[in-house]
Amino acid sequence: MGKLQGRVAVVTGAGRGIGQAEALRLAKEGASVAVLDLREEDAETTRNLIRETGGTAEAFACDVSQRDQVVATFQQIADLWQGIAILVNNAGITRDNLLFKMSDQDWDAVMNTHLKGSFLCAQAAQKYMVPVRWGKIVNTSSTSALGNRGQANYSTAKAGLQGFTKTLAIELGPYNINVNAVAPGFIETEMTRQTAERIGMDFEQLKKMASQEIPLRRVGTPQDIANVVAFLCSDDAAFISGQVLYVRGGP
Ligand code: NDP
Repeated sequence: MGKLQGRVAVVTGAGRGIGQAEALRLAKEGASVAVLDLREEDAETTRNLIRETGGTAEAFACDVSQRDQVVATFQQIADLWQGIAILVNNAGITRDNLLFKMSDQDWDAVMNTHLKGSFLCAQAAQKYMVPVRWGKIVNTSSTSALGNRGQANYSTAKAGLQGFTKTLAIELGPYNINVNAVAPGFIETEMTRQTAERIGMDFEQLKKMASQEIPLRRVGTPQDIANVVAFLCSDDAAFISGQVLYVRGGP
């Protein structure tokens, strides 16, 4: 039996990349997984992959930065499966630019997706976790929280998520809700592929360059993150809360 048998999990931005790997992994551990993404067809792709492996999943189109959509979707999920026990706030975007060229739109879009999105989803999810005194919330920070050229908006949001994580751990701990964050380093996904395109670099070349800076001498895979998230959502991690776990192949 999987470690999350009978649990209901929500993964945002799960139509591809890290979120898709997380959704697949949580389903493999026995959770019923609500796959959320901006576009329904992307969410359906992941839902179908989960079903093909015998797991339980449903797909939802949901923009995490919109309160009405978040509240309605979480309500639908809770009605379908009688509750929500696990939330993985993964949805994210980049709008990189140097400070002097960064527009208000670039700033707001990143803040709204990462920070407001995680806030809205956590608020919607805790409503179902508090009454049953069991819950796991995992936020997605980044090594960029420590500072990264061209990412004033993104690094600010990812650093903000660390404060958000620690505060929620304090507020929700008395209700047996663990709140942690993963902070991935370079992970091979569409997001990093687009970064390569933007800076006019071959993706394989960028990966090779990044690997040379990583002590384990490789970039990460979505599964590397999904494995850690599955651990943090399990009772093996029952006494871990308010932590930021860097998953970057080095210190
Ligand atoms: P991807 O771009 O591959 O996937 C992100 C997914 O989130 C997409 O399906 C995207 O939909 C969706 N999404 C974007 N905005 C919203 C929204 N408002 N509501 C719902 N879904 C949304 O990214 P990754 O898998 O690489 O990244 C996942 C998370 O990990 C992000 O938070 C990212 O910041 C973080 N991260 C990634 C790292 C990496 O190296 N890849 C490193 C550190 C952190 P659509 O395709 O329609 O835009």
